[in-house]
Amino acid sequence: MSGNTASSEVNKTAHEFDKTNLDSLLSRRFFFAPAFEIYGGVAGLYDYGPTGSALQANILDAWRKHYIIEEDMLELDTTIMTLSDVLKTSGHVDKFADWMVKDKVNGEIFRADHLVEAVLEARLKGDKEARGKKVEEKEETDEKKKKKKKNVKSEAVKLDDKVVEEFEYILAQIDNYTGPQLGELIKKWDIRSPANNELSEPVEFNLMFQSDIGPTGQIKGYLRPETAQGHFVNFARLLEFNNGKVPFASAQIGKSFRNEIAPRQGLLRVREFTMAEIEHYVDPLDKRHARFNEVRDVVLALLPKDVQQEGRTELTRMTVGDAVEKGIVDNETLGYFLGRTQLFLTKIGIDAARLRCRQHMANEMAHYAADCWDFEIQSSYGWIECVGCADRSAYDLTVHAAKTKQPLRVQQRLDQPRTVEKLDVQYDAKAFGIKFKKDAATIKSTLAESDKERLQCIKDEMDKDGKSLVKCADGKEYELTPDLVKINPITVTEHMREFTPNVIEPSFGIGRILYSLLEHSYWAREQDKARGVLSFPPLVAPIKVLIVAISNDPALTAVIHDISIKLRKLGIASRVDDSSASIGKKYARNDELGTPFGITVDFATAKNGTLTLRERDTTKQLIGSTEDVLKTVDQLVKGTIDWEGASKVLQEYSGVQDVE
Ligand code: AMP
Repeated sequence: MSGNTASSEVNKTAHEFDKTNLDSLLSRRFFFAPAFEIYGGVAGLYDYGPTGSALQANILDAWRKHYIIEEDMLELDTTIMTLSDVLKTSGHVDKFADWMVKDKVNGEIFRADHLVEAVLEARLKGDKEARGKKVEEKEETDEKKKKKKKNVKSEAVKLDDKVVEEFEYILAQIDNYTGPQLGELIKKWDIRSPANNELSEPVEFNLMFQSDIGPTGQIKGYLRPETAQGHFVNFARLLEFNNGKVPFASAQIGKSFRNEIAPRQGLLRVREFTMAEIEHYVDPLDKRHARFNEVRDVVLALLPKDVQQEGRTELTRMTVGDAVEKGIVDNETLGYFLGRTQLFLTKIGIDAARLRCRQHMANEMAHYAADCWDFEIQSSYGWIECVGCADRSAYDLTVHAAKTKQPLRVQQRLDQPRTVEKLDVQYDAKAFGIKFKKDAATIKSTLAESDKERLQCIKDEMDKDGKSLVKCADGKEYELTPDLVKINPITVTEHMREFTPNVIEPSFGIGRILYSLLEHSYWAREQDKARGVLSFPPLVAPIKVLIVAISNDPALTAVIHDISIKLRKLGIASRVDDSSASIGKKYARNDELGTPFGITVDFATAKNGTLTLRERDTTKQLIGSTEDVLKTVDQLVKGTIDWEGASKVLQEYSGVQDVE
């Protein structure tokens, strides 16, 4: 049963979405605010207030239940400060970077892809204006307005049809360009800084915050840019905890840090944010999922890579089952998580019509990844990646195992023993030791980890040329000769199979989801554009129940106190508004906080023990005994009934006017 209230009866589109009103509400009601605001703030750092914190806590609680509890995942809480060796091995020290360009005159820094995107979009907009077409009016944020004024002027210049086509093509795959390619685009299209100055060549900027661990400065660390590495370095313990069996998943909620070149768009691109990440370990030869049938019929709005590569952006609506069967989504486990994530996001209140799954194109995807899809949510800022679902293959576990010499592998007893042809490596121990001395162990371990194909190549080269140059784990090359090493085919019977699991990773940016939810939940009452409402589902609403009295009579105050205690005992977050404001104003103030239900205490309460119950979106009211109302509220908040269900238990009430 959906926890949603009777919102379908309400006209939520009487007014166009007003970002300025929403921003004012979020700031006034302290959902979040710039960190260190009284010191002038720092870009990309935000503090959440009481309402924002409660909303986030409820989203995370729903997330834990939806994934960790429902799917029996192994929860972790690993350190934020991460040893640099770990991030060197994972590739972050060398590759976790964005491309930036510098204004050659005033030194201002920009993220190269964002600047190219903004300039080309502005030119296209100017073209539309020049052609006199009706330009689709998008909501413009203050930030966007500022940018337009200062950064990228959309002058009404008519472009050649071919140029329009090319700009659209570039924009459709803006995430697919390398730094040098962005440099070429900047030159080709004479892209300049907002001050109209030339730009430098794009250079890479590593996004990690570096630090020293301890006083000596000898142990280097970084604030983690993702929680994932904390899972991988604990893989052996997790596997043991799971009795040595795959598939299983670990999950972690925690802060991550990225020193973004240009934080922007409020909570959407920040330097410190909460992530919730799942690492699902699976047999590379069997990526089926035992619960796939449960999501087979979930419909996704897909934007596959080949469509984007043709410069198109139309969505294909398809069930998870079809997408996997047709090979659009690589495997069942990845499909399973796409389905589960669609269910999670819509359950917490994200509008399904503004949710799409975009597949990564070749350059966007890490070289080791088998397939990757982002859940993008549409807001006034456009389509924004909020959840990344990637098949990371065996990459992370393999590199950490190679570096640490720890076997991050699964051993599986075979149902039937099997006979396999292998290549056996034999050494002339004495001669080998004399020739390679301290490097002998490295060469031996490299050969021990080499697969059959690689050993066959070495054997063939030695047979043909009398030697083979072998690159080893230390990065050096060594010359092997048949007098030192013999590689021969042998037949062995195996009872065990050993493999490195592949990892499917859904990675959630909680701040982005929270902000998108705020936009999707916001609307204004038909009779008053300034009367904003946040229609959160009860599941995530920061406060579930408002308790108000019709007057300040002490007899009513005592009842309010009693109801408040009873709700607390039920574990329901409630809030008493005992200010002198009118009852309509009290309701309006709590509509802004997204409080789904209101209990009103009036003189009938004192006399007959009745309470009225108000639903936020419709403002409809029901009446019943204290006991029935509290029981109904409990069920509504838990989502076991909806307003229609409540209307069957309680009676309709029209005694109190919901106006200021
Ligand atoms: P990634 O590892 O880059 O795929 O990021 C995983 C998720 O973290 C994304 O889907 C976003 O939701 C979130 N995320 C990444 N960077 C930021 C940022 N700078 N600010 C807020 N959220 C972010």
